[in-house]
Amino acid sequence: MSKSVIEYLENSAVMFPEKIAVADDKSSMTYKELLCYSKNIAAALLPYVKQGQAVPVYMEKSCMALAAFLGIATVGCFYVLLDHSYPIDRINSIIHTLDANMMIVDEKSAKKQEKLGFEGNVLKIEELIQYTASKEEYVQLETIREQALDIDPLYAIFTSGSTGVPKGVIVNHRSVIDFIDCFTKQFGISSDDIIGNQAPFDFDVSVKDIYSSLKCGATIQIIPKSLFSFPAILLDYLDNNHVTTLIWAVSALCIVTRLNGFDYKKPSNINKVIFSGEVMPIKHLNLWRAAYPDAMFVNVYGPTEITCNCTYYIVDRAFELDETLPIGKPFPNERVFLLDEKDELITQQDCHKIGEICVSGTSVTLGYYNNKEKTSEAFVQNPLNNKYIEIIYRTGDLGYYNEKKELCFSSRKDFQIKHNGHRIELGEIDAAINAADGVARACCIYDEKKQFIIGFYEGESDKKAITHALLAKLPKFMLPQEFVKVDAMPVTKNGKIDRKQLMEKYDEK
Ligand code: AMP
Repeated sequence: MSKSVIEYLENSAVMFPEKIAVADDKSSMTYKELLCYSKNIAAALLPYVKQGQAVPVYMEKSCMALAAFLGIATVGCFYVLLDHSYPIDRINSIIHTLDANMMIVDEKSAKKQEKLGFEGNVLKIEELIQYTASKEEYVQLETIREQALDIDPLYAIFTSGSTGVPKGVIVNHRSVIDFIDCFTKQFGISSDDIIGNQAPFDFDVSVKDIYSSLKCGATIQIIPKSLFSFPAILLDYLDNNHVTTLIWAVSALCIVTRLNGFDYKKPSNINKVIFSGEVMPIKHLNLWRAAYPDAMFVNVYGPTEITCNCTYYIVDRAFELDETLPIGKPFPNERVFLLDEKDELITQQDCHKIGEICVSGTSVTLGYYNNKEKTSEAFVQNPLNNKYIEIIYRTGDLGYYNEKKELCFSSRKDFQIKHNGHRIELGEIDAAINAADGVARACCIYDEKKQFIIGFYEGESDKKAITHALLAKLPKFMLPQEFVKVDAMPVTKNGKIDRKQLMEKYDEK
């Protein structure tokens, strides 16, 4: 059994040396090249790193970014992709959490990086890739590999945190290998596949693209983000690059159907459509199925904290617009179960009884990096097991079993939302508004129908000033679409802001 994901790359480089491993809109790398580049990068990093440390990668998704990830993994460290478009404060908060003393940039991002005021070593990928490793360095890399464990971290992905500080989910090689082995088998991904990568590299949907492809000797075709604003160009790109497999966020699939993309073209090679991230609207699923009647459609579910997904449902029947698409059943080697309010088990016989979705298994991640408090809130001992250590992840998602004993997603227990595909803690926006000058108290609510974040606030400030303050702290996708000034926040009996009343007042307007 593999101990490191680097074995996926090495095996595929032996089996398919000249095959394209990864391509973007400007360049491509064969398996042989990708392996060679990742070794060069690893060797070049040797003087700068200690095994187990974080290496942030501040660049756009590309072949080079993937080579950087694999180089970092080869030298026994873990990677963290930092999004260019994030405000400097947010990037610096992530760097602080990681305690990072170095980072990798590319030519394009070097200028932006200077604005961060980062004091550690900054290395350029274009130079790292050109490095030629010496014999001694190869020996050093081999020793690092021998000493590495499969529980060592591979990457961290930062998600919105309710207290205002992003949380870094830290994931080891074992969890990825455990999941990817099942994922590729279950959906028959093979070396014939060309996987059209939609997800940014700091979303764990991309983990499925990257490691499924490396494991099977397939090709990852990176799709530039900008194409998702132009469905016709996007569909041409998929067709011209012979993409067979889409492992996409629901919101990305819906862009194609919302803009009637299939009236223009149906790319001819698509045979697998695997989607996740939020509830798939049946209307859009049906349009996709009509365009690809022979393709396999799969609804996969799970948060970043359990490594990509823990349940799947292969769409096997027709769905009416008012029906719920199940999230299905657990992947092999994952235990997914429902706990009621008293932490008692809800069984498949308890049809439609709602409980919190909890997950146990090898793919449960290592928690939140450098954040014991938040880790211990969600990664807990299984309350059904008081005999030995069994850490489960409490997802905060509510679910139930339908008549067919399939698991279904219902809603959230807390104030986490999905907005245009982004996972957001409304509490993080509250904290940022509260910190703005001229705001006494703030509270955000999500209007599901309009897909609007509404920021309610008490104070002298106005929309322009608050937006200006937020832009320095939050990514653009977290900005409220509307601000409502209130004289006084309505409160519940126990003194908490009464969100229901706020929303009612808003609806009356
Ligand atoms: P992320 O960590 O960004 O992948 O977001 C995970 C959250 O997205 C989950 O906790 C759910 O609330 C939601 N989610 C993921 N997949 C699905 C799905 N197939 N159906 C409904 N909600 C989903």
